[in-house]
Amino acid sequence: MTAHDVIVVGGGPSGSAAAYHLAREGARVRVVDSSDVLGGRYKTCGGGFTEKLWWTFPKSAFATAEENTVTNLRIRAKPNKGLSATHHSDVPIAHMSMRSDLDRSLLGFAVDHGAEFQPGKVERISFDGNGNGCPSVTLQGGEKLTADYLVAADGAYSLVTRTMGLPRHRRQVVAVEDEAYGPTEENWSNTIEIVPSASPMGYFWVFPKADHLSTGFGGTAKAASRIKKWARDYSESHVDKADHHFSGHYIPLRDPGYPTYRDRVFIVGDAGGFVDPSTAEGISWGALSGKSAAESIVASDPAQFGTWVEWVDKEFYAARAFRNLLVLRVKLRPRQILTDAGFWQTFFKIVSGRMTYQEWFSTLSRPTRSLVWTVNRFAPL
Ligand SMILES: Cc1cc2nc3c(=O)[nH]c(=O)nc-3n(C[C@H](O)[C@H](O)[C@H](O)COP(=O)(O)OP(=O)(O)OC[C@H]3O[C@@H](n4cnc5c(N)ncnc54)[C@H](O)[C@@H]3O)c2cc1C
Repeated sequence: MTAHDVIVVGGGPSGSAAAYHLAREGARVRVVDSSDVLGGRYKTCGGGFTEKLWWTFPKSAFATAEENTVTNLRIRAKPNKGLSATHHSDVPIAHMSMRSDLDRSLLGFAVDHGAEFQPGKVERISFDGNGNGCPSVTLQGGEKLTADYLVAADGAYSLVTRTMGLPRHRRQVVAVEDEAYGPTEENWSNTIEIVPSASPMGYFWVFPKADHLSTGFGGTAKAASRIKKWARDYSESHVDKADHHFSGHYIPLRDPGYPTYRDRVFIVGDAGGFVDPSTAEGISWGALSGKSAAESIVASDPAQFGTWVEWVDKEFYAARAFRNLLVLRVKLRPRQILTDAGFWQTFFKIVSGRMTYQEWFSTLSRPTRSLVWTVNRFAPL
């Protein structure tokens, strides 16, 4: 018998979600995170999350971390100039947080429901366990923990997936965020700005935080060397004479069929590429993958997770179609797409979790689906 039913490596949204859903079903679960403060370390992230997070956690789990509720979207054809249109949504488009606050709330919620938290950096995993092939993790300092299952929630640079010999995801977004503290010309409190085709396959964002603007840029790995400069220029044009804090890293996007379960190890969150390929939203999708892995463990049925992942792969295919069609329309007919109120109301329904990308996809005509198939095949993201 092992001391724990499940070890979760990583206490971000995906690990906390797994831990919460396991602990509330009575599993003995321990979360190990290299940060020594409960979820409270700084993390590069826009910190915007959508109501899809409700699919995993009750609102009380993150209520104190929420800074702003966004109901307006300003969409621009080009950065800082030219055409723009603002659309209002009756349901929140997104909620703003600082990631240290959000992660602390979510992990704290899991601990309140019975999960244990242990600070510690996992340096190694092995499968000797108690002779049953159970996975073990060895922490910096030598302590070894063994469990019936392991949940790999250790982010984009996952040690667990590397140790298992899994490749990096082929499609990656490189994203740079700037936290810009300084005077702005307008009150951004409930408006976000997006420039969907700011570069080949990249987009700019402006998110309103309580005491600063989070501006940023995500694009292809190929454009990485230019992304920092683009992000800096964009940010400096929005917040004059500000204190800028730039940081960035890459965001993996799932390759359909990328393994998510092997040898009693479930791979969730960024480690499994569970990031919306249209919006690069990884908080709620990571959390959802953690929840789904937990439910599969509780049911002692790893195949259940596999079935959910197949659904996600279809959803992300449709999400790529949505993004690629949007980018095409912005390039070819910017005025038409920017002012297409029906299109943006559909977008709001999707991001807020009231409609799936697949439901939207099923409304497309046959010729449009063929176009999508071609574009999805050749688009770099
Ligand atoms: C610039 C930028 C902006 C972004 N903006 C948004 C946004 O606005 N909204 C959104 O939804 N998503 C955004 N994302 C994506 C989002 O940040 C990630 O998808 C999300 O954090 C994934 O959560 P996770 O729990 O899988 O991984 P993480 O949040 O990365 O958590 C992994 C955890 O594992 C721990 N860990 C790692 N290695 C070890 C180890 N060896 N031992 C122990 N612990 C370990 C880490 O300390 C960390 O706490 C953004 C990403 C970037 C780069």
